[in-house]
Amino acid sequence: MSNWRGNDFDGQGSGNTYYSRRDRRESDNQSSRNRNNRQHGDNNFASNDQNGLVIYINSSKVGKVVGKGGSKIRELQDISQASIQIDRNKCDDGNTAITITGETEAQERAKQLIEKLVGDDRYSNQRDTENNYATHNHTKSNYSTYSDNHYQTSGERNEECNWSANATPCDVAAFDWNIAAKQYDEYKTKLWSTKGPIKKEFYFEDPTIASMSEEDVAKFRRENNKIEVKLVFDQEQDASANVKIPNPIQTFDQAFSHYPDIMEEIRKQGFEKPSPIQCQSWPILLSGKDMIGIAQTGTGKTLAFLLPALIHIDGQETSRSEQTGPNVLIMAPTRELALQIEKEVGKYKYRGIKAVCVYGGGSRKDQISIVERGVEIVIATPGRLNDLVQAKVLDVTCVTYLVLDEADRMLDMGFEPQIRKTLIDVRPDRQTVMTSATWPQGVRRLAQSYMKDPIQVFVGSLDLAAVHTVTQKIFMVDEEEKTEMLESFFSEMGPDDKVIVFFGKKCRVDELSSELALKGVNCQSIHGGRDQSDREQALADIKSSYVRILLATDVASRGIDIEDITHVFNYDFPHDIEEYVHRVGRTGRAGRTGESISLMTRKDWSHAKGLISILEEASQEVPEELYKMAERYEHWKEKKAQEKDDARSYGRGPPRRSRYDNDRF
Ligand code: AMP
Repeated sequence: MSNWRGNDFDGQGSGNTYYSRRDRRESDNQSSRNRNNRQHGDNNFASNDQNGLVIYINSSKVGKVVGKGGSKIRELQDISQASIQIDRNKCDDGNTAITITGETEAQERAKQLIEKLVGDDRYSNQRDTENNYATHNHTKSNYSTYSDNHYQTSGERNEECNWSANATPCDVAAFDWNIAAKQYDEYKTKLWSTKGPIKKEFYFEDPTIASMSEEDVAKFRRENNKIEVKLVFDQEQDASANVKIPNPIQTFDQAFSHYPDIMEEIRKQGFEKPSPIQCQSWPILLSGKDMIGIAQTGTGKTLAFLLPALIHIDGQETSRSEQTGPNVLIMAPTRELALQIEKEVGKYKYRGIKAVCVYGGGSRKDQISIVERGVEIVIATPGRLNDLVQAKVLDVTCVTYLVLDEADRMLDMGFEPQIRKTLIDVRPDRQTVMTSATWPQGVRRLAQSYMKDPIQVFVGSLDLAAVHTVTQKIFMVDEEEKTEMLESFFSEMGPDDKVIVFFGKKCRVDELSSELALKGVNCQSIHGGRDQSDREQALADIKSSYVRILLATDVASRGIDIEDITHVFNYDFPHDIEEYVHRVGRTGRAGRTGESISLMTRKDWSHAKGLISILEEASQEVPEELYKMAERYEHWKEKKAQEKDDARSYGRGPPRRSRYDNDRF
């Protein structure tokens, strides 16, 4: 028998595969375990996926997978987002079954991580001395980290004997994961209990706001970018939680009259009135509730979570000198956005609160030295944050107010494992704020894992508000015509015009910036392949008007707030229509108008329909050719669906894709 093999438990597989799908009953149980875990604040990813993957490892390696007090297996689960279970009943021939459940990709990730962890030794049947559970003392020391009490009772001592030097591989597999998990939870609870309680309520509702009728509230929300506000996970919410959604405020004073120093800071900014997201967010956040803001950059969302954060920090009963780390953690997807948040934070002076921005590409040494001097707010990109937490430079166990800014973007960029890993150490009774421009499944899952009874505030008819101030022009072109059109645009630019040109590929940005440099045209470029300092310089140059042309990939499409961009030029049409809205929203900011020029080729036909809705909604001219393109695409889609149905009814697979399919429009 192979040492690394699987069985097909539902009997449908080809036999000697390396993995197997679990039977439905087992995986249903797993799903329900996951649901229960989630309800108890567990960080594990819960999936409804009913399949499972079973892999076998040498039993002597089980300890490596479990880790001290279950820490390794938790880490593996957090990174992979799969649920991993050592199956004590499936153990023979010196091998132990590990059952992995969750989404297929997550299962695969977990499998690879385990393979990497146990290394080539997975093929070995020999018991080795590395076994974490080989001796009584070793076991004790491993677990005493989490709970010295666990081995006190005789019953538990018996269990401990299972891990003795004489244990068989099967005995080794009989590790009680539930006990390890319980110990881990106890350890965390104990750790957090030393941190003192969190004070979250800082809201004093103004009598005029408290007395608003339901109709008044509805009218105000309707007239302010169609604010929509609701509880998110109604079906799963504990009925006893009874979360009341506060009425929106209408003036700064109604939110902050008890905080004159905050009022003074707002006054200094010269703002006229709170933005819609602020009107609804401040009462929610000052009341200590979790909130998901569906809003994008330019709506005032940073201030929406920032001012309550300042009040929250100052209002904590544990003195700041007793804290071993920051109170507020703001995670952001890109360096640019993180720096922009830092800049916004820097505008508000309140009780000496200090902030640091940590991001990959910036000087690690400088960032560490600021963190070590003590700060109340950390703004971070997930990678560098994780790095500093792992290096024990940054202690996140004091974080009581957590912000996940542009969560959808963070997930798009693949940061979910780092987010989950960092959040293992953040106390679960914290207040959590999440912002996102969209509300896809991944963001929902994140919210479900990390938020308690969140209230969702949605502003405007998603994204569209941002493009109402922009004249949007669409040109249907052939690929070869693009450069000429761009050059002709450059030649017609006025002295006050400023443009961001978006490309699909970094190499095209580099090519064009070299071409322009040779022609003596002053421009800057920004994309993920450039050094951080170059990217910052590019932004500084366009902001200061040292250059008036910025060539960019989508890395610059969100979160960058340059007020006087007059034009957005989409040289390549974006991969999805949401990205289109984000790009176009880089102009027409801060009360100005703007213009966007988008080149579309036949390859972009799948976006035609979505684009038409956006253009129509914003009362823009829609080229006749765009309607035709949308029709052709719909027709093609129907045809494909029909072919698939036909193939199914004739009992054969889908037909091969015709090389002409893309040309038929
Ligand atoms: P944000 O959506 O956080 O990226 O904010 C975009 C810009 O709006 C920032 O420059 C803020 O300083 C500014 N801002 C925030 N709140 C307001 C407000 N109530 N009135 C006018 N501008 C604001």
